[in-house]
Amino acid sequence: MPTPIAASTTESPAVALQPPGLYIVATPIGNLGDLSPRAAATLASVALIAAEDTRVTSRLLHHIGARTPMIAYHDHNADAVRPGLVARMTREAIALVSDAGTPLISDPGYKLVRDARAAGVEVFTIPGPCAAVAALTLSGLPSDRFLFAGFLPVKAGAKASAIAELAGLRASLVFYESAGRTAATLSALAEGLGDRPAAVAREITKKFEETVDGTLASLAERYAETPPRGEVVIVVAPPAAAEAPDADTLDEALAAALLHMSLSAAASEVAAALKLPRKAVYARALELRDPD
Ligand code: SAM
Repeated sequence: MPTPIAASTTESPAVALQPPGLYIVATPIGNLGDLSPRAAATLASVALIAAEDTRVTSRLLHHIGARTPMIAYHDHNADAVRPGLVARMTREAIALVSDAGTPLISDPGYKLVRDARAAGVEVFTIPGPCAAVAALTLSGLPSDRFLFAGFLPVKAGAKASAIAELAGLRASLVFYESAGRTAATLSALAEGLGDRPAAVAREITKKFEETVDGTLASLAERYAETPPRGEVVIVVAPPAAAEAPDADTLDEALAAALLHMSLSAAASEVAAALKLPRKAVYARALELRDPD
C-alpha cells in the first residue's frame, strides 16, 4: 500500500488523503478492538466508503470518530452502482467494507475487485478478522489444508449434493451457517461425510464466545436439544486416511463395478469396500455414468 499523501481537508485536517484506488478493509466480527489501526486510518482518510449496510458501518465510523461519506453497495444494487464506483476509483480512494469481517468472504465485493482490476485501478487490502479462519484456528482440527465452503444450500436435496461433492476431499471443511439451521446441517454433514470429528465455533470475539467439539452426530444431537444462539461456524475434520482413497482409486473401482452391476449396487459395494459414505460414492457413480 502506498504511503498516504499528507494533505488537509476541511472535514478532518489531521487526516492524510489516500492515493486513488480500491481499499478492501476488513472490520471486526464482534469485538471492536479488532479493528486494526491501519483499517481505522484508511476508513478515516478515503474519499468514500462503499458499505454493505451504511447503518452498520456508521456505528463503526462513530467508534473511530470519522465522518467519511458512504454509499450502499450490496447484492441488490451492485450491478447499477459498480460502474460509477470503478470510474471514481481512478481518481479517488474508495474503501469497501462489509457488515463484519473480510469483504468478499460470503459477502459482496468480488465483482467490484474484478472490474477495478480490469480498469487498471490499484487494489489494496487491509486484512483483518475473518470468521472462517478464526473458527479453524479455534477448532483444534487440522489446519494445514482446508476448504472454505461458505453457506450450504438450504434445501435438503441440494444440501446433500453439495456435501457429497466434498466427501472425498482430504482437507478440513469450514462452513458458515445460521444458528437456526445448525443442528440440521450437522446432521446432514454426518450423513453425507460419516461421523467425523468437528467443532462449532459460536459468537467468536463476543461476550458469549464458545467452541464446542465432538463428532458431527453428537454435535447435531446437542444443538437439536439446545439450539445455539448468535453466529456460528462449523468446522469438520478431513476423512481419516483409511477412509479416503484417492479419486483415481474410487473411479477405477466404480468403473469395474458398473460393468456388471446396477448403479445402486455398485455404489453400495464400492462404498463398503473403500469405507466411504455411500451417498458420496453414489453421486460419483452417477457422474461417471452420465458425464453431462
Ligand atoms: N465476511 C465475513 C467474514 O469475513 O467472516 C462473513 C460474512 S457472512 C455473511 C456471515 C457468517 O459469518 C455468519 O452467518 C457466521 O456463519 C459467520 N460469522 C460472522 N461473524 C461471526 C462470529 N463472530 N462468530 C461466529 N461466526 C461468525
